[in-house]
Amino acid sequence: MIQDKVVVITGASSGIGQATALQLAKDGAKVVLSARRTDRLEKTVQEIVQSGGIASYFAADVISKTDVQALADFAMHTYGRIDVWVNNAGLMPLSYLNKRKIDEWETMVDVNIKGVLYGIAAAIPIMEQQHSGHIINVSSVAGHRVGMAGAVYSGTKFAVRAITEGLRMELSPTANIRATIISPGLVETELLTTITDEDALIALKARASSALQSQDIANAIAYAVDQPEWASVNEIVIRPTTQP
Ligand code: NDP
Repeated sequence: MIQDKVVVITGASSGIGQATALQLAKDGAKVVLSARRTDRLEKTVQEIVQSGGIASYFAADVISKTDVQALADFAMHTYGRIDVWVNNAGLMPLSYLNKRKIDEWETMVDVNIKGVLYGIAAAIPIMEQQHSGHIINVSSVAGHRVGMAGAVYSGTKFAVRAITEGLRMELSPTANIRATIISPGLVETELLTTITDEDALIALKARASSALQSQDIANAIAYAVDQPEWASVNEIVIRPTTQP
């Protein structure tokens, strides 16, 4: 059941996170949207509220553990519990290793891995206390296999899958916290704008014949959230039909 669940979503200012917030709010969840671009968050919250839904937003940069903890505090203060935490914020500045884009490697590790860990760290004590919760981490098909110019990005997404599996093993049986990995193939979003290596962009466009829409991934997340408490959806992999 999605109705009345309190759901925190990072990276909710665009793409998959925004579509997920809209879908879950439509299904009756109380959603807390987070990202850095508050103008976008505010617009989406207005859209939800105008359609009769319940939503609020909180600005947080996931590279800051203080910001992520403040996001959890805000959700608790506003709604009194957190049923689902979606770690979705991410970047994909693909590049060939010999371009040595070390700053981009660092940002990817900070946002895609450490940002997810900070979300988990903020959610665990609350969910342990509730003896109920669900943490959903957005990995990728790139978390299953490495593509050209994707060594570091894939590294971060493999890490997200490993961390989520560890979370499931440790906290599902003892604390009733479910853990779900969402692994999309190519989705048409703003994510490609983070690529500064033109050769990597050309390589990606050459192998991308079609893309999913953010709504396709929102539907997958809604499915995982909607399952009864005894059923834990561990991973959903979803590709465009024509993606090899
Ligand atoms: P978008 O670029 O549309 O969304 C990325 C979101 O992450 C934005 O809301 C952005 O918000 C947020 N974000 C980025 N950096 C930070 C930060 N430091 N702190 C807080 N929020 C941040 O891309 P997608 O919707 O495609 O990406 C969502 C997730 O899906 C990512 O984890 C991505 O790796 C994953 N994914 C995407 C695929 C695709 O093909 N699009 C395929 C597989 C996985 P803001 O800038 O406002 O902070």
